[in-house]
Amino acid sequence: MVIEAHADDAALWCGGLMLKWAGEGHRVILVRATNDENDSVGLSREETARLNREQLHQAAGLLAVAEVVDLDFQDAMLTDLARIPLRERLIHLYRLYRPYATCTFDPYSVLYENNQDHLGSHQGRARRVGTGALTARGRPRSVDGHQQR
Ligand SMILES: [Zn+2]
Repeated sequence: MVIEAHADDAALWCGGLMLKWAGEGHRVILVRATNDENDSVGLSREETARLNREQLHQAAGLLAVAEVVDLDFQDAMLTDLARIPLRERLIHLYRLYRPYATCTFDPYSVLYENNQDHLGSHQGRARRVGTGALTARGRPRSVDGHQQR
């Protein structure tokens, strides 16, 4: 399961990993947290959200993603207030899909992450693990193979 904030995040940062996982026979689930309504110039929010959704699904098809889950939280609003509903949605998805591994943003990377939607996506996943979404398979592994805590 790959958790991204925006439509272009996963394809840019881990598109190769998703394609590799799919090629190895894994069912890749891509979760987009926001609706990307602010990611354009000169288009309405509705048109922007619609185009970004279309492009996300096209890219997911090229990357052999089995399913895209659009959570449709308001773009640029994954703040502390939005993290509880985001966490609830992620807990539901973890219980539904029982992922073997997950991939999302690394807030401690050398690239310094300051996008609040990216940080919210990471925290939603990190706190999800500690709030009871464990599966019969145990804790999902992060992409580097370490158990999540
Ligand atoms: Zn992003």
